[in-house]
Amino acid sequence: MSDMSPHHGRGTLAVHAGVEPDPTTGAIMTPVYLTSTYVQDGVGNHKGFEYSRTHNPTRSALEAAFAALEHGSHGLAFASGLAAMDTVLKTLQPGDEVISTNDLYGGSYRLFTTVFAHYGITFHFVDLGDLESLKAKLNEHTRLIWVETPTNPMMQITDISAVAEAVKEAEARVVVDNTFASPMLQNPLDLGADMVMHSVTKYLGGHSDVVMGCLMTSDDAWEEELRTLQNSCGAVPGPMDCFLVLRGLKTLHLRMQRHCENGEAIAHHLAQHPAVAKVHWPGFETHPGHQVAARQMHGFGGMVAFTLADDNLDTAKAVVAKTNLFTLAESLGGVESLIGHPATMTHASIPKEVREKTGVTDGLIRLSVGIEDVQDLIADLDQALAQAHG
Ligand SMILES: *Cc1c(COP(=O)(O)O)cnc(C)c1O
Repeated sequence: MSDMSPHHGRGTLAVHAGVEPDPTTGAIMTPVYLTSTYVQDGVGNHKGFEYSRTHNPTRSALEAAFAALEHGSHGLAFASGLAAMDTVLKTLQPGDEVISTNDLYGGSYRLFTTVFAHYGITFHFVDLGDLESLKAKLNEHTRLIWVETPTNPMMQITDISAVAEAVKEAEARVVVDNTFASPMLQNPLDLGADMVMHSVTKYLGGHSDVVMGCLMTSDDAWEEELRTLQNSCGAVPGPMDCFLVLRGLKTLHLRMQRHCENGEAIAHHLAQHPAVAKVHWPGFETHPGHQVAARQMHGFGGMVAFTLADDNLDTAKAVVAKTNLFTLAESLGGVESLIGHPATMTHASIPKEVREKTGVTDGLIRLSVGIEDVQDLIADLDQALAQAHG
């Protein structure tokens, strides 16, 4: 694949990683290999491709790009973020234990507690910002530490190097769900993590048109195990989706730059708005994770949450109903701005007392700030806040 090394800048990697002109025609863009199988000149005599669940050239180019973007040796693509996670968990055995954060993405929590708990795997949820509570659960059965940073929707930050350091004597590997940061803003493998997982559906795809997941690692033995599971279980993405993500990746650095700029401007605007009590954005020095975020990230991202001054359900529902540019929807990370109400949407299945402990109150609103002109986004939020209070 392309001669891209970690020495290249992130933008150069975004444009070039994994992609070489097509050897048969010279096509600059990776062709979409819509084929399930490949001709064999004689038994076992093929060009490295036998069947598309196992290998597809469009997917191989994308997997090489994924590896390069996270400064890893290997990249694997899956049919969704949860399919990628499912594959990691299938490397565990009954009796194994996993330690994760108590502010985990809801779908990850559901996969852990309603699927894998039935296979004899034990999950512990702790505050990963507190290394003592992590160490308290660490034992000879611990195999994985599942980190998510920043978290949804409160933008809590976990110190990846500190977690990797705390468990280095144990047999546990550290996996980081890097979905919210993207490889442009955070590279967990460089910070001591063993594996990175992304919901490609979000920033990597970036255009809200694909559901996909990926894993990146430099651990050869683990990669072999995961590759076998990818082929044995078959949760692979199709070649058209791989092409769409290859296309999306080429502007990842530009998109993330604009997501960060717009996120920052909106966070500052909302912080001085009379209808807003608090803005949750790690770029503020008052944010509890600011110091760590400033050290381990290359920007604070495009996710901004805020709590309304009256912290009221009806006002929050009115705000999300009144925006025009911010579309009311689940998901995040696309070029268009989205608005959501965690208490009734992403976190609806979590008991009120539990969610309120982490700050997910009825008056909390989450923004996935897109790449539109920021003055239009600010005007849209202002008019929605005014109408909701009118
Ligand atoms: C969306 C998301 C996932 C799940 O990914 P899918 O592509 O929806 O399966 C996992 N982690 C985080 C942080 C997410 O935002």
